[in-house]
Amino acid sequence: MAKPHEPLPAGVDPCDHGHKALRLDEARARIIASITPVAERETVDLRDALGRVLGGEVRSGVDVPSHRNSAMDGYALAAAELPRAGTAAFEVIGTSWAGRPFVGDVARGQCVRIMTGATLPDATDTVIMQEHVRLDGTRVVIEAGHHAGQNVRPAGEDIRCGELALGAGTLLRPAQLGLLASLGIGQVAVLRRPRVAVFSTGDELRSIGEELGPGQIYDSNRYTLHGMLSRLQVEVIDLGVVADTREATLRAFETAAAQADAIVTSGGVSVGEADYVTETLERHGRIGFWKVAMKPGKPIAFGRFGPAFFFGLPGNPVSVMVTFYQLVQPALRALTGSIDPDPPVTVRARCETRLRKKPGRQEFQRGMLERRPDGAYTVHSSGHQGAGVLRSMSDANCFIILPLEQGDVEPGTEVEVQPFAGLV
Ligand code: AMP
Ligand code: MG
Repeated sequence: MAKPHEPLPAGVDPCDHGHKALRLDEARARIIASITPVAERETVDLRDALGRVLGGEVRSGVDVPSHRNSAMDGYALAAAELPRAGTAAFEVIGTSWAGRPFVGDVARGQCVRIMTGATLPDATDTVIMQEHVRLDGTRVVIEAGHHAGQNVRPAGEDIRCGELALGAGTLLRPAQLGLLASLGIGQVAVLRRPRVAVFSTGDELRSIGEELGPGQIYDSNRYTLHGMLSRLQVEVIDLGVVADTREATLRAFETAAAQADAIVTSGGVSVGEADYVTETLERHGRIGFWKVAMKPGKPIAFGRFGPAFFFGLPGNPVSVMVTFYQLVQPALRALTGSIDPDPPVTVRARCETRLRKKPGRQEFQRGMLERRPDGAYTVHSSGHQGAGVLRSMSDANCFIILPLEQGDVEPGTEVEVQPFAGLV
């Protein structure tokens, strides 16, 4: 559940329309709390399950490993025969290979050469590393100081038969694929991928391949959105550019909601003459909130249109990216049904450039994070920080996160940095 609304510090302008600006962390928590994950499942081959979300829990039908085995290359013997002091010699009567166990009995005074992963012969319970023995013809000589059971992996050490291997909602990464393979599972039930419809709004927008007329620009947001969404486990439905009219906007909402679990749009959420997105959501859908105390980024429309979750991002290209990463991406992760194991990663870095910042909004400036030979992190601004200057993103490798109350940042000050690695 979302936390109760914390009051905003002075300097945060409350917005018109009767909605107050929300703190970003609260907006994010509210959105995530209101998301119902997809529930339908499908079965896929294990390799194709990479990045997918497990549809139900998986219990093991076998012990992993299935047999008691050696953790080292060495010699298997009975602990009862280990010397308390001095040395003891053992006759080597055979070899147990991984996948080819030793057959025969091991009597007193005897041992078996054993390889890593090989089954321990019945009468043995301890493995002496080969580096710790001295060879003497067909015998090995062992000194005191070893202990019973050493270098032995019991059957079921990794996972016991019947034990929970992976919980429902687990994100399947390489380790989970390997774990499922170790159980002999070749097909997995995963949640279906959410479908996300995308459109851009704006009479000034042209698609690639079209001629630019006076005052027109190419639609870049659909491409950054395509890139950002493609990194998530969602199916993207591209609905193109929508004109700034009430009718076209409503039609686009309806088309999107008929086929998608979520709708992500850019532009048309301000209070300009030609901004119909918020209006359409207010009239025909349900609006959660639409103003967040962040920069770049406010305003943002979040709500529902029919059964679909709706995210109306601002039009400025940098605002689209910042609001996507800070609000939409965590929400879409929740929509996939994934129990996200990764906390957001931030590091502290010494800022080498002066950053201009007014108190009142949490800012996501773009920067270059570097690691010095002594291990210290430094960061500098990636240049002009205008919300429309996409170069500030493409020249950057991190967000510099400046808290709500923060004013200008002087060079040499420590700042919080969120690397793009793992995020974008
Ligand atoms: P809006 O939020 O619709 O008022 O748009 C804010 C600014 O972002 C305007 O300068 C728009 O021209 C620009 N913009 C809106 N949508 C896009 C887009 N899809 N690609 C590039 N720029 C856009
Ligand atoms: Mg517009």
